[in-house]
Amino acid sequence: MAAIDMKNIVKKYGDGFPAVNDVSIDVADGEFMILVGPSGCGKSTLLRMIVGLEDITEGEMVIGDKVVNDLAPRDRNLAMVFQNYALYPHLTVFENIAFPLRLAGVSDDEVDRLVREASKTLELDEHLDRKPGNLSGGQRQRVAMGRAIVRDADAFLFDEPLSNLDAKLRGQMRTEISRLQKRLGITTVYVTHDQTEAMTLGDRVAVLKRGVLQQLATPRELYVNPGNLFVAGFIGSPPMNFLPATVEGRTVKLPFGEVQIPEEHARKAEGKGLLIAGIRPEHFEDASVKQDTSEGSTFRATVDVVEWLGNEAYAYIPFEAGSEVRDQLAELERDLEGESMRSQLVVSLDGASRVAEGDEAEIWVDTSKIHLFDPATGENLT
Ligand code: ATP
Repeated sequence: MAAIDMKNIVKKYGDGFPAVNDVSIDVADGEFMILVGPSGCGKSTLLRMIVGLEDITEGEMVIGDKVVNDLAPRDRNLAMVFQNYALYPHLTVFENIAFPLRLAGVSDDEVDRLVREASKTLELDEHLDRKPGNLSGGQRQRVAMGRAIVRDADAFLFDEPLSNLDAKLRGQMRTEISRLQKRLGITTVYVTHDQTEAMTLGDRVAVLKRGVLQQLATPRELYVNPGNLFVAGFIGSPPMNFLPATVEGRTVKLPFGEVQIPEEHARKAEGKGLLIAGIRPEHFEDASVKQDTSEGSTFRATVDVVEWLGNEAYAYIPFEAGSEVRDQLAELERDLEGESMRSQLVVSLDGASRVAEGDEAEIWVDTSKIHLFDPATGENLT
């Protein structure tokens, strides 16, 4: 196993905008690192530079204690697991796993020993005679991983391995990959555009936008302390609400009313003029089902639509964004590929809430969780 250290990596195709722009990410030995971001953010290019399928324009790629910029892919001892698993349909599970060993000219006895050992770890030992066509998606994934384990690769590299699967299977596979990675303790870099995968699988997550690293942190840190507007909008589902805000003392003026925020947050936003407030849907509640509303603030709002999901309900409350921040929010929406609606507040209510469409409801908000962003730079000030 080995650590992977990307130092100020730049990738330019021709003389256009860099696909990867001065990115530094250190993946510790045994760590599960996620590269996430919307389409075109450069995550696959970065992965391909780790493996050696793409030249590095500037910067240093260090694997273990070696600079590998000029090493051929086969000399990097990494194992890439592709989206379609790249299994050979005409070969058995045994031969699929054995493939890299055969290529390396390993003796039959040794191949037999190594394949049996790997297939035991992966719980594939009962399926060694089957062909990939007769395996479940999960088993196929394990065969692909078996191929990597058998040759004792220093790291696993995954490029969107689950994107072709339906939601249920994707969930199962996610758990499986996580379990295996922990058990094997193999350094892993995993590319996805899916923030749920990023949050559930990664020890740490690198969020990229247009070739630039936005934030590198644990899933919890990204969720609790997003560094900027983009990360805040990208992480979390349904996404964070963004609203125009002005701060005076501890009072934040929002489209639905005024709330008090903690002094240390207010101080950081003092004198900054018009800001963008970010509030996650789950930091609201129906005041009538909330036991204690002494912390935070309440406000009255007319609910447009309610989606009841059993354990919770999403209520939609329209608001007017105001022209000053509309451009910034429109740009954010483009960056996030229009995943979120910015002209309505989405609030998550307890499943016991009886708030119905058209009601004027009393809504509670946890004001200690309100983020304030600089509209010009996107930086999180709180
Ligand atoms: P996706 O999720 O859509 O695969 P991505 O985040 O993995 O996107 P990359 O595939 O790394 O993004 O692409 C990053 C940028 O580099 C994009 O703007 C893309 O158009 C550009 N790009 C990628 N490969 C090439 C290439 N061979 N020649 C020119 N430009 C390229």
